[in-house]
Amino acid sequence: MTLPIIVIGAGICGVSTAIWLQRSGHQVILMDKGQPGMGTSFGNAGLLAPWAVDPVSSPRLWSQIPYYLTNPNSPLFLQWNYFPKLLPWLIKFLSNATDSQTRRIVAGLAPILHDSVDQHKELVRGTSAEKWVVDSKFSYAYPSQTAFKADAYSWKMKASAGLTPNIISGHAVQEEEPILGSAIQCLAVLEGLGHITNPGQYVKELAQYFVDNGGRFIQADVKNLHRRQDRISEVQTDQGSFRCGSAVITAGIWSKELMIKLGLKIPLVAERGYHVIFENPSEVPRNPMVITNGKFGVNPMEMGLRCAGIVELGDHQAAASNTPLRVLRKHAKAVFPNLKFTATQEWMGFRPTTPDSTPLIGELGNSGIFTGFGHQHIGITAGPKTGRLIAELINGQTPDIDMSPYNPERYVI
Ligand SMILES: Cc1cc2nc3c(=O)[nH]c(=O)nc-3n(C[C@H](O)[C@H](O)[C@H](O)COP(=O)(O)OP(=O)(O)OC[C@H]3O[C@@H](n4cnc5c(N)ncnc54)[C@H](O)[C@@H]3O)c2cc1C
Repeated sequence: MTLPIIVIGAGICGVSTAIWLQRSGHQVILMDKGQPGMGTSFGNAGLLAPWAVDPVSSPRLWSQIPYYLTNPNSPLFLQWNYFPKLLPWLIKFLSNATDSQTRRIVAGLAPILHDSVDQHKELVRGTSAEKWVVDSKFSYAYPSQTAFKADAYSWKMKASAGLTPNIISGHAVQEEEPILGSAIQCLAVLEGLGHITNPGQYVKELAQYFVDNGGRFIQADVKNLHRRQDRISEVQTDQGSFRCGSAVITAGIWSKELMIKLGLKIPLVAERGYHVIFENPSEVPRNPMVITNGKFGVNPMEMGLRCAGIVELGDHQAAASNTPLRVLRKHAKAVFPNLKFTATQEWMGFRPTTPDSTPLIGELGNSGIFTGFGHQHIGITAGPKTGRLIAELINGQTPDIDMSPYNPERYVI
């Protein structure tokens, strides 16, 4: 009897993996301690972001640290009570803030990002989720041309991945995006991109498609993975044990705890991020954008205008903080001065980030245990391709990209 493959975690990475495995003819069980699409995949900015190829840990970070630490409107926060636990990760993360390491990270991320719009379209073909993928342009919104020029290193990295913007400045900014006030004086516009207009519902409908096509979803909290002679044999949950032929860990930030159960300490930290939704907005941008000095994405979504971003390094088991949300609202008010709305919603989620900002995609030895987590700011973008790559590996196929940057054993000492 062929045993099923168990996919642990039903966010964008897990649901994509389950679908691509199912399409290859496997019997698949998708497990989640909650409902599909309710983790970090729920509340993100929904941007398909090949441009997010350069990591936060770029060489420019060094000159920005004093600003981030002293400016009350800075979009970067630290949970100081978590600092002692964060420090070993932070040292590794900052050691990557060099030109050579950044180029290496960019070269590793580009192959899983560059065709993300096509990857989403292939994933959703024939599903009800097709309606949530929308073609669009995308803008980086800067307070001035000087601020755009100061970002030259980042644009050099994006250019190496084939992304070159059209620059719009002065009054033409408000002609391009009438919602923007005078706080934005320069747009760097990229063509041929896309966005998701309801990420949580998107993942939920994809999970339903998986079930409608014979897949099994079980709501269960995975406690451990049991191996027999170094091969996965069963997944142990609060709902009992389930035998399997292979298992895939796609549990976002919570993958860290599951890896510890396997004896592997992965340096994975939560970049806590926030969103505010402005319901029934009086105006929306024509295309999504990122407000660079507030570090948040703006996406006109089904449920309102979502502003999502901010980085707060900290504990994924602690409650949301007030200050990042206050700063997010303040920046939104500054750039959209005439925006009216009837109510707002707030949310916090956890970007799972490794020191080299690169996800872990691959098999742990020959254990039959595969990983697909650590997608920091780019999980919605790269989730479908991650799922496809894992399915190819399980099928014994050789992916057409170099998988070595994502080696899940690179942190094993
Ligand atoms: C504010 C913000 C904005 C963002 N904007 C973007 C963006 O515009 N574009 C982009 O590409 N990315 C963006 N991201 C990042 C993106 O949201 C994440 O990288 C992505 O959602 C991670 O998906 P995932 O499937 O790995 O994890 P998740 O979506 O977190 O899913 C993990 C699932 O595993 C389940 N789970 C955990 N532990 C267990 C267990 N023990 N047993 C069973 N189930 C378990 C959880 O319940 C959860 O459903 C943003 C993130 C934030 C916070």
